Amino acid sequence: MDCRVFTDELAKLSLLQGVNQADLKWLLHHCDVIHMEKDQVLLSPDEDNNTIYILMDGRLTVQFDRQRGGMLTYVDKGGWVGEMSVIDNMRPSATVMTDTKVRLLAIHASIWWELIERSHIAARNFLRAVSLRLRQDNKLITEGMQKQLIFSEKAQTDSLTGLRNRYWLEEKLPEILGAQDAGLAPCSVVMMDIDHFKDFNDRHGHLAGDSVLQNVSTVIRDNLRENDAAVRYGGEEIILVLPETNTDNADLIAQRLGRLIRENKVETYDGGVLPAVTVSIGVYTITNGDTSERVLSRVDAALYIAKNAGRDRVMVWEAS
Ligand code: GH3
Ligand code: MG
Ligand code: MG
Repeated sequence: MDCRVFTDELAKLSLLQGVNQADLKWLLHHCDVIHMEKDQVLLSPDEDNNTIYILMDGRLTVQFDRQRGGMLTYVDKGGWVGEMSVIDNMRPSATVMTDTKVRLLAIHASIWWELIERSHIAARNFLRAVSLRLRQDNKLITEGMQKQLIFSEKAQTDSLTGLRNRYWLEEKLPEILGAQDAGLAPCSVVMMDIDHFKDFNDRHGHLAGDSVLQNVSTVIRDNLRENDAAVRYGGEEIILVLPETNTDNADLIAQRLGRLIRENKVETYDGGVLPAVTVSIGVYTITNGDTSERVLSRVDAALYIAKNAGRDRVMVWEAS
């Protein structure tokens, strides 16, 4: 690694391309060449910075939110760091470390601004460089937002059945109630629970029970409309949210699902067939002014009545 830096080397850097020899010479006399070993901190959000560093050799890592293991990017030969602090006088937004041995050109802010005064070409290069950095950052932000969407989707999905989970319902139900109060078409909620599932597990094993749960969920998913939602609310309890569905239609949908589940054959891992399970189902249609608690307690009450009445049936909640 050469210890010195020459003007022809500077002329090749994108930040200094086109700047005349006299200005490059002036710059060389007013900046420092720094050598650092691998794994050293160059910039940190905890320390002020007033220097632009141009990387002449080696590689740097840039990490946002290092404490929480944030995103890591690299800066290679010819790249630079520190320009944001020089522009806005604020601390760096990321931690910059040496990833290899490096040779850096360190240009103090006052020298940099003086160069900008001297050379319109340096000013233009700098503007271009900053806008390029902004574009890259925007791209990273957009990618980060897409990832976040996928993560939050995953966080709201039950891993065994692929249905929505309880957190999803807790977040969505108040929104649905708000829409109902705003005068949208009635929305019904259905709660179903597999009958005697404890016995089933005891008799056929937990793995067979899991297969049944997955199978019941698939039957439900395959038979709902696109805007309906199926939620695994508890162990073997599933809640359906059926927008624009009055009580009669919700009752019909629940009856049909009950029949399909009763008739559905579940195969074991070794090719055998498990006995069918049945479900008990409660139905409740949301009315104006309902709260999440009231909706859940009423649909649960209807389910309870279905269980007590002998299971394998649908009950609609009715005001007594
Ligand atoms: P009921 O007809 O009154 O609903 O009787 P039940 O046996 O289904 O009800 P209970 O609440 O007594 O038991 C629920 C059972 O569901 C117990 C538990 O082992 C089973 N279960 C809950 N979650 C899972 C799961 O993820 N996998 C399996 N295999 N079983 C589960
Ligand atoms: Mg049960
Ligand atoms: Mg249960």
